[in-house]
Amino acid sequence: MNCKYHTQEKAQWFCHDCDISFCLNCCDMNEREIAPRCLLCRSHLNSLGVSDKVTPFWNKLSDFNKYPWQKGAMNFLMLYMGIAFVIGLINDFIPFWILNRLLLITLFSIGIGYVFKVLITTAKGNFEAPSYDEAIIFDSEGMTGKVMGLFLILIVIGYFAIVPMGLTALQIYLALISFSMPAILIILAMEKHVFSALNPARIATCIKAVGWPYLLLFGFSYLIDNGLGFAMSEIHFWLPQAIAYPLLFGAGAYFYIVKFNMFGYVAFQYHNELGYGIEYENLLDNESEDAPIKRLLAKSDVYVQEGRFEDAEHVLYELAENKQHTVKALERLVRLNIARQNPAGALKAAKNYFDNPNLEQVSAEALRLYENMIGFEPRFKPMNARARAVLVKQMKHKRYADEVKKLCSISEKMKSDLNLPWLMLARARFESEAMNDDTKALKVLDTLLSKYPNGAHQREAEQLRQVCRSMQHKLPSA
Ligand SMILES: [Zn+2]
Ligand SMILES: [Zn+2]
Repeated sequence: MNCKYHTQEKAQWFCHDCDISFCLNCCDMNEREIAPRCLLCRSHLNSLGVSDKVTPFWNKLSDFNKYPWQKGAMNFLMLYMGIAFVIGLINDFIPFWILNRLLLITLFSIGIGYVFKVLITTAKGNFEAPSYDEAIIFDSEGMTGKVMGLFLILIVIGYFAIVPMGLTALQIYLALISFSMPAILIILAMEKHVFSALNPARIATCIKAVGWPYLLLFGFSYLIDNGLGFAMSEIHFWLPQAIAYPLLFGAGAYFYIVKFNMFGYVAFQYHNELGYGIEYENLLDNESEDAPIKRLLAKSDVYVQEGRFEDAEHVLYELAENKQHTVKALERLVRLNIARQNPAGALKAAKNYFDNPNLEQVSAEALRLYENMIGFEPRFKPMNARARAVLVKQMKHKRYADEVKKLCSISEKMKSDLNLPWLMLARARFESEAMNDDTKALKVLDTLLSKYPNGAHQREAEQLRQVCRSMQHKLPSA
């Protein structure tokens, strides 16, 4: 499906109220909103999401297994085992328990930082393993603290509230936690709040959003944990820590990367159902500098095509405020008002357009717009000499003779215009080059140089006078 207004563009958003599909730029985006808004009715747009188009997670198991073997993850694992080795050495030789615990927590926290990074990166639809330097600025969001807080709360609840209720209650409690763990970790990663991750209502909506496949997710996650348990039981604890640490933490990191990659993929596959505007958030984070401009342009297209000219005008004037885009926006405004047969609007926009100091850079377009404008309103002409000079300079053909004459007739008001010499110079060039009338050109140049003998135009005017004179001398002999 393509955008209704930009038929070349793939549709990315959908408005249920208007029943219209929009492309990426055809929307209003505001930070701190869950989704972009419809330009026509202002309600939130739905992303033409991915959950029905992507491979479901249960068909991606081999990809999850390959994930730790990607370059970024491999480098991380190597580095991580290296750090584990050093910490193991220190703990072997300096058996001081506070130091030992602190170093262990550091080691855990590097791992936690990386696996959550894996989850979030994957959830955003990026299936490339993050590099280890992204992990070493680990834990910028305090994930270690949050994970520890989360388990601490679970233990405290278990110890003080559940244990007194008996063994069966404890078993149910543990089973529930184990079943909810994938949902808890996904919520924690995506929302970064311990309390929403532990909120039973939030956990339930998360499980419900995934639906029956959640059972599969739980099953796979359970199998991975078993694999990890097996790996760990094979690593003998009587080994010196310098050797046991890299093996234990390496295996742990490996299995957890697989697991968090899978969780991330689930968040990606179900982001719509889970209520995470992942693409949207991703869009705002990664958008290029000119994206807001593109959106304004697209927006004006929507309004024009819907016949909402005042909204379109509003958007274009907003665009015109950006100096880089003033000319483009004003040009659209002129055309828009010509199309809607609104002389006042067209004249206002055209006046602004031709007053623009950067007109010279778009002189060909300026002439085209001028011609459209006089087709619509024959009495129109720019009221400043600079714009007129730009236009005359572009008129390189005899057929423009009348136009040039019209543009070079100077009203009282323009007599003091500082750019008048440039207009006269352009006129002289037109007479000489387009009309082949060097006598006339010389007359203009003489007036110009006697009236305004000094200034930036002087050199060019004198050169042109030289050329015209030599042409005049040549002509009779030819
Ligand atoms: Zn569009
Ligand atoms: Zn709508």
